[in-house]
Amino acid sequence: MRLKDKVSIITGAANGIGRATALKFVREGARVTLADLNQSALNDVLADIRELGGDAIACVVNVTSQVQIDDMVQRTLARWGRVDVLVNNAGIVADARLQKMTDEQFDRVIDINLKGVYRCTKAVVDIMVGQGSGSILNASSVVGLYGNFGQTNYAAAKFGVIGFTKTWAKELGPKGIRVNAVCPGFIATTILDSMPEKVIQQMEEKVPLRRLGTPEEMANVYAFLASDEASYINGAAIEATGGVML
Ligand code: NAD
Repeated sequence: MRLKDKVSIITGAANGIGRATALKFVREGARVTLADLNQSALNDVLADIRELGGDAIACVVNVTSQVQIDDMVQRTLARWGRVDVLVNNAGIVADARLQKMTDEQFDRVIDINLKGVYRCTKAVVDIMVGQGSGSILNASSVVGLYGNFGQTNYAAAKFGVIGFTKTWAKELGPKGIRVNAVCPGFIATTILDSMPEKVIQQMEEKVPLRRLGTPEEMANVYAFLASDEASYINGAAIEATGGVML
């Protein structure tokens, strides 16, 4: 078990990549705090974890609320006394090309996908520094490397997440904390629900492996990066895209 007893907080854990990552972490022996807006989906994940015999708690958290984030961290500490891994996975899309994008769309995506990562990391960083160890994993995207039509807000957030990653790797590496980003390509989750079938087909054709990725394939990357097997990986933005470069 690669994550035995590692206390891990995963945001956006109720669906998609976050859910698959939570289940993978539990199978690898981690103790997991599941954080998400969606209480009923969160409870379903918790039930799946209990069925696996795993140890987890569920917290209803909006990553735009520092109060809710701090409460989640306190609940994690009360239960297990430490935080080894933070997976900053919660994210949304609100697409429009530049000329049509509203300030509300822009601000919403930045607040969740970028500032949410900042808020959650601030909430655990002193704990990890005190422990002298930790692993912080940030959800970027292939869009955070190459940009994408209709995603001004999302691209800005995902490029920004790589900026956080490289900066925190420098600040926190000397304190025993590794910080890395994962850049998924096109992954089959509900985040793609708003996209027309035709667009999804075009996405598949762009991928050298000729298919979308699965949440489980992303969970494998998170589990590796969180584990001690990745002990010399710091400040990296790992592409898990099937080879697509947009
Ligand atoms: P998803 O929509 O399936 O799941 C996202 C989860 O985040 C949901 O459970 C949702 O309730 C939660 N969430 C949304 N806003 C929140 C908030 N304010 N506070 C707390 N939780 C919130 O999405 P996914 O495809 O699994 O994406 C997960 C991450 O991976 C995101 O950051 C996304 O940008 C990134 N990503 C996804 C893809 C893809 O193709 N699916 C590609 C690249 C990057």
